[in-house]
Amino acid sequence: MVVVMAAEAGQDDIDGVVDLVRAAGGDAFVSRGMSRTIVGVVGDVERLGTLNLRAMPGVGDVVRISAPYKLVSREHRRERSVISVAGVPIGPDTLTVIAGPCAVETAEQTLASALMARAAGASLLRGGAYKPRSSPYAFQGLGEAGLQILADVREAAGLPVVTEVVDPSDVDLVASYADMLQVGTRNMANFPLLQAVGGAGKPVMLKRGMNATIEEWLMAAEYIAQRGNLDIVLCERGIRTFEKATRNTLDISAVPVVQRLSHLPVIVDPSHSGGRRDLVLPLSRAAIAVGADGIIVDVHPHPEAALCDGPQALVDADLRELAAVAAHLSPLVGRTLTPAPALAAVDA
Ligand code: PEP
Ligand code: MN
Repeated sequence: MVVVMAAEAGQDDIDGVVDLVRAAGGDAFVSRGMSRTIVGVVGDVERLGTLNLRAMPGVGDVVRISAPYKLVSREHRRERSVISVAGVPIGPDTLTVIAGPCAVETAEQTLASALMARAAGASLLRGGAYKPRSSPYAFQGLGEAGLQILADVREAAGLPVVTEVVDPSDVDLVASYADMLQVGTRNMANFPLLQAVGGAGKPVMLKRGMNATIEEWLMAAEYIAQRGNLDIVLCERGIRTFEKATRNTLDISAVPVVQRLSHLPVIVDPSHSGGRRDLVLPLSRAAIAVGADGIIVDVHPHPEAALCDGPQALVDADLRELAAVAAHLSPLVGRTLTPAPALAAVDA
């Protein structure tokens, strides 16, 4: 249920609605738009349905949301959201490129990758310090030492940092270094982790589970939103199908479908979906053309020696082309390529 406050409603009116809902065992999330304030109400529908919210002072309308996800639905917020990652926007008017190594391996490799990311037109740096690997014998990431490298490279390369967290007990630590928290495909349905990142006070990039339907993905986002964090970017990264020619099948339809169902930005990961370097540029073109709000790609200075996902990492020779694809296609789809922050603008 969504309570739409009247234009003239004051803070006392909003507090009155929130208090009434909470007293009835529900929860209320206030979103202030340009022209109106709306209060998302979640909880036991039958009990909350008996509240006469319409009669409360300052209430303009009460709208029932039919979708199972509420706060992330477009019924809750009609305008598509812009999420700011340390000042870098991800939203409907921009195309934001995120690039970096799959995993943080060394300070030198991460800095070289960050400079490659800038050359590719990226405004955010990706890189995993905690790696959820299919094999327990594979490189698991450097942990906090990797987070420290990311923080140092952020200062040197001037790019805010997106990095994955895999364990609820690490969320506060990762959030103390990162500008955006990533929840990976294998953890999309890790509900304690979703709740923990929802309370961490940082924007979250939520990848689609490789076996998840769009509705399950949006319900996962709802877990984060329900903790009061609506700064969520959804990332389509391919799903499992019968096809073996690619690592996963990029569900390009998911981008416009989700953008119609949810106000949250949707980006595409052409690196993890295809799993092959030669597919990254074609899939990036497809993602931009279909209307994605951004792309996230792997780069590596020496992919033959990479500890994780070398075969899909772009190399120096690819960067100029990726930058050109992003710069040329953005205006054709009514977007501005998000510029990288000026070097001095990012704090360590
Ligand atoms: C990643 O982005 O590093 C990653 C592990 O991706 P995914 O969760 O999509 O496999
Ligand atoms: Mn990877």
